Amino acid sequence: MTKDIQNDPKQPNHIEDGAPQDPTRRTVLKGIATGAAATGAAGLAAGSAEAHEGSGPLGAELKNPYGGRPAGGISLPEYFRPTKYMTGSNANYFPLSEELGPDEMRISFCGSTPYPPREDQAGTCIMVELGNGKRFFFDFGSGCVRNIVGMQVPGQLINDIFISHLHVDHYADIPYIYPFRAWSGGYTPLRIHGPSGRTPELGTQAMVDGMKQMLRWHLEAFDVFPIGDGYEIEVNEFDFRQEGGVVYDEDGVTVRSWPRSHAKDGAVGYRLDWNGLSFVWTGDGRPDELSRKYGEGADVFVTEMSGQDIGQLMTYKYGIPQELFNYTIDTHHTSHYAVGKLFADARPRLGMVTHYTQDEDIDAEMLAGIRAHYDGLFQWGIDVAVVNVTKEAIWYRKAVIPGKSGTVPPFRELQAEVDAGRLELPEEITLPNPRLTRADQQDQKYRDMEIDPKEYYPEDVFRAPDGEWPKDLTIKVSDVLGPRDK
Ligand SMILES: [Zn+2]
Ligand SMILES: [Zn+2]
Repeated sequence: MTKDIQNDPKQPNHIEDGAPQDPTRRTVLKGIATGAAATGAAGLAAGSAEAHEGSGPLGAELKNPYGGRPAGGISLPEYFRPTKYMTGSNANYFPLSEELGPDEMRISFCGSTPYPPREDQAGTCIMVELGNGKRFFFDFGSGCVRNIVGMQVPGQLINDIFISHLHVDHYADIPYIYPFRAWSGGYTPLRIHGPSGRTPELGTQAMVDGMKQMLRWHLEAFDVFPIGDGYEIEVNEFDFRQEGGVVYDEDGVTVRSWPRSHAKDGAVGYRLDWNGLSFVWTGDGRPDELSRKYGEGADVFVTEMSGQDIGQLMTYKYGIPQELFNYTIDTHHTSHYAVGKLFADARPRLGMVTHYTQDEDIDAEMLAGIRAHYDGLFQWGIDVAVVNVTKEAIWYRKAVIPGKSGTVPPFRELQAEVDAGRLELPEEITLPNPRLTRADQQDQKYRDMEIDPKEYYPEDVFRAPDGEWPKDLTIKVSDVLGPRDK
């Protein structure tokens, strides 16, 4: 795909009337229904050039939206190709196998469903990594930590979580990762960004306060470990009402928010801009003017699509009354037709949907609804899809992550951060001292109930239990990261 076929005068789809066509601003096809028709009756009739010049059953001109090539079949935009930094496989993303380019963005779907969670779909979470070493998470639904760790990002490095709203499918794994992040060496504060609500008790800060209360037993129990500042949560609660206001601005990365219509005040969408690249996540909500505005021209525009507007089918499939399904869509969500309309108006380089139940038997219908409006590049935001973005190229792969084994927090990632110059580790680290002992919070009689270890350890491997943490314990970093040849 190195030649611009659209502008080659020898090609049948050469555009006669002007400058090279910007693939991000195509206006060629008004309905993909014609594309479907081309493979149906109209396509069968096509035996000559004349046969291709008619219109499809819906009246639109029969034409490949990306520009045809003789016998080339369907093509995709010229920019849909692997980025120049991909040193690994173009077919799959193998975490840790390639370095992100300095001007590259990588977007990974670490969860994609509202409800119910499934083996192949965790709760909604989008990880955005930038060539400047920054990493962000947009929403943090149930089970996403499994995929994040599978992507070889250890819990200690999870930070900067942007919550779109406080439906639990968008933050369920925060109370899970919060104490374990600290336990596994995340001794620095966790940063959570999220909207206010109508009243203070409905905002992100109040959710975090309530979460700390919910976790009180766990947090105290883990205080027998080195924790440092890992229990600190820096909450960046911003006014949900601001339209395009900056909610994050560091290291050349800007994140803006706008209010969304999602049944209750306090839901927002986000747009991240960095180095001329942009990522948009609508969060949940009805299709609205502001999402169209802030999605305009985005490199990657991700919208939710829990509005699979096929109520009767969903009743057959999931046993949920059609009325409940329709009402949920009409008060909360974006239908597949609305997705197409948003993309058609905003003209992103890549339009994606997530936060939906992926069913192959209905996905074709979903896509038909989207294509009724939108002819641009489209991909599904499903677990564990990975999108690499540069100014020149956009590429889509599925990650290959460990399945039943090997998903322990990979300290090798820390070494990779060191190698890339983004992280400095000293040769030795003195761990923070625990704040509590067992004796502080456990009655001696329960420790006395423990079976004498000599009853179960063979004599030659016996190690006397060490119930006291050694104060000011210093470890060699190389012991933790493990031997690695340079
Ligand atoms: Zn949701
Ligand atoms: Zn929601």
